[in-house]
Amino acid sequence: MTGMLRWLLEHGEIDGAAVSVSDPERPALPMPKLVTTVDELLASSGSWYTYCANNLALADAERLGCERVAFVGVPCQITPVRKMQLVDESYLVNGRKKEKHIERQTKFLKGFGARVALNIGLLCTEVFTYEGLMVEKIQDEMGIPLQDIKKFNVKGKVLIYKHDGSLVEMKLKAAQEYARPECHHCGDFSAELADISCGGVGAMDWTITILRTARGEELFNRMVAEGLFEVRPIEEFENSMKVLLRLTNKQHLRVPIPPGQDASRVRAV
Ligand SMILES: Cc1cc2nc3c(=O)[nH]c(=O)nc-3n(C[C@H](O)[C@H](O)[C@H](O)COP(=O)(O)OP(=O)(O)OC[C@H]3O[C@@H](n4cnc5c(N)ncnc54)[C@H](O)[C@@H]3O)c2cc1C
Ligand code: SF4
Repeated sequence: MTGMLRWLLEHGEIDGAAVSVSDPERPALPMPKLVTTVDELLASSGSWYTYCANNLALADAERLGCERVAFVGVPCQITPVRKMQLVDESYLVNGRKKEKHIERQTKFLKGFGARVALNIGLLCTEVFTYEGLMVEKIQDEMGIPLQDIKKFNVKGKVLIYKHDGSLVEMKLKAAQEYARPECHHCGDFSAELADISCGGVGAMDWTITILRTARGEELFNRMVAEGLFEVRPIEEFENSMKVLLRLTNKQHLRVPIPPGQDASRVRAV
C-alpha cells in the first residue's frame, strides 16, 4: 500500500496522506500523521494492531495547505470520511440564506472530507488496546521491551518481529482478550466505502486489493501499466477469497438487531 501512496505523491495525484506512524515518545504506539514527503511516507509503512485515530491527521491538511490527500484507515474511519464527502448540502439553499452563509455551512458539512482525494481502507476484524496487548501482555507478561519491536503481522497468530531479527509468536486467542469491545459490534470488515481496500486475508507476502470505485480502478491500472508492482488475479488466491467472503459475511452478522425489530431490518437474511 505504501508503494501506491508513494506513486500517488510522486505523480501529483495527492499532496499528502493521512496515515499512522510510530510515536517517538512511546514505543510501538501508532499515532496519526499527515505526511507530505516520500521519506515520511516510507517511515509510515507497516501495520500496528492497536487503534490509531487517523481521521485526526486530516485536521492538519488545512494547516499544511494540502488540497488532495489520501486517507488510509480501518473501515470505521473510512465511513465518516465518505459520509462527509457525500453529504447533500442542497437543503441549505432555502431562498433566505445569504450566499456567504451557504458557503460557510457547506464547508462545515463537508469538513475534512473535501480534501480527501482517495480513500484507502484496511480490512479489519478487530483492534487491540495498547494498554492491554502491548503493555500488560507483551511487555509485562511476555517480558518483551516495547522498544525492541520492529513490526507486527497477524496470520492466524500474532507475529512479533523484533529489531534484532528474531520472531516471537503469540496465539491470536491470547491477543483477542484485549480487543476493543466496540469492535465486536462492527459490521464492516472490508472497508466497503473505500476507493481501494487492502488486506492480508491469509496471503503471505501479498496484499489482497479490492478496487471499489472507478477512481480507485483508474489509478490502480495506471500503476500496473507503469510496472509499479506485480499483480496476480484473485483466482490464484482461492483461500484468501474464501476468507474474505466468510469474514465479510460473519462481520455483517455482528451488527446488533435493534430491540423489537426482526433481523431483516439490518441484515440480508
Ligand atoms: C488495525 C488493523 C487491523 C487489520 N486487520 C486485518 C484483518 O483482520 N484482516 C486482514 O486481512 N487485514 C487486516 N489489516 C490489514 C493488513 O494488516 C495490512 O495493513 C494490509 O494488508 C496492507 O498491507 P501492506 O503491506 O500493503 O501495507 P503497508 O504498506 O505496510 O501500509 C499500511 C498502512 O496502514 C497504516 N496503518 C498502520 N497501522 C494502522 C492503524 N492501527 N490504524 C490505521 N492505519 C494504520 C500505515 O500508516 C500504512 O499507511 C489490518 C490493518 C490494521 C492497521
Ligand atoms: S473492527 Fe470495526 S470498529 Fe473495530 S477498528 Fe476495525 S473497523 Fe473499527
